[in-house]
Amino acid sequence: MPKVLRCKHIGPDKHCLFEARGETNEEILEQVAAHAKTEHGIEQVTEELVEAALSKIVEEE
Ligand SMILES: [Zn+2]
Repeated sequence: MPKVLRCKHIGPDKHCLFEARGETNEEILEQVAAHAKTEHGIEQVTEELVEAALSKIVEEE
């Protein structure tokens, strides 16, 4: 079952519709890092951000 992380749950923009999908947390973190950089200007993915992201990853229904 794929996992999903919604940007609005961790990002600065509560209306952002970006969703990262993958089979593993690593896949999702990679997508989120790329998205955060291009869409939100976040150059540095901090440990706090990674932790927040990991806590919000859910299995897709
Ligand atoms: Zn976003």
